[in-house]
This record gives sequence, C-alpha cells and structure tokens, in this order.
Amino acid sequence: MPTHCIFCNTQDDALIYRDEDGIVVVDDPVRPGHVLVGARVHSENLTDLTAQDAAGLMRLANRVGKRIIALTGAQKLYVTAIGDKDKHFHVHLLPKFVDEPNLGPHIFGPAGWISFLPSAPNVNDLHKINDGLRKALTI
Ligand SMILES: [Zn+2]
Repeated sequence: MPTHCIFCNTQDDALIYRDEDGIVVVDDPVRPGHVLVGARVHSENLTDLTAQDAAGLMRLANRVGKRIIALTGAQKLYVTAIGDKDKHFHVHLLPKFVDEPNLGPHIFGPAGWISFLPSAPNVNDLHKINDGLRKALTI
C-alpha cells in the first residue's frame, strides 16, 4: 500500500464514500460533481485488476454517477480513466450539462490528443489487432 496513494491513504476531507466495491474521492475537482472512483485494491492498470474488482469499480461508479446526475441535473457523465498521475486504477466521473460542447472533439479532434499521433493508424496493424481480438474473444 503506497503511502503517497490518494486512494490507499485518503485524507478525511477528500473521502466521499468507501465500500467493498471501491472508494470515491475528490482530488482537484474541475467542477462540482467531479469525483474519482478508485478500485478496491491498489493496482495501476485496468488489466491488473481481477474481473471481480473491475466489476466492483464500475458498479460503484454507476451508483455514484446516478447520484451525481440527480444532484447536479447534468445531462450525462463523462467517464474517463487516464492514470498518468495517480497509479491506483480509477475513473473520473465528470458531469456534462446540456448546453456544453461535447468533450470528444477536444480529445480526438485536430487539436486534441490525436495531434500527437501519426496522421492515420497503420492499416495493417489495425486489421491485425482487430482480427486478433475477434479470434481471442470468441474462444
Ligand atoms: Zn492505492
């Protein structure tokens, strides 16, 4: 249990809720209703979690998300998992209101994250990975 982890060593003022599925904390919120839902155990990546712990995290995020929508009147919630800073797998729940622009173009649009990537994915790699996934997931 890393001492610097905000989920494993949560400050009282950051803690919103904790149960057997995970933990909900506030950390530098960009707006009211922006919370982080962390996994029950300290694991850096989604793929480090057991399927049971991953399901628990999403069950808690679903439950908390419904409450955030009820409290804020948001149209929907963005659910993101970045993991560059905090190395305890978590998702951000971020309310999005009706009159606000969609976040997608800011991530995948020309000035977003995609601007750091090659202009188009390698078609051979794309087909190879997608075919591999189709085969692997049907077994
Ligand atoms: Zn942790």
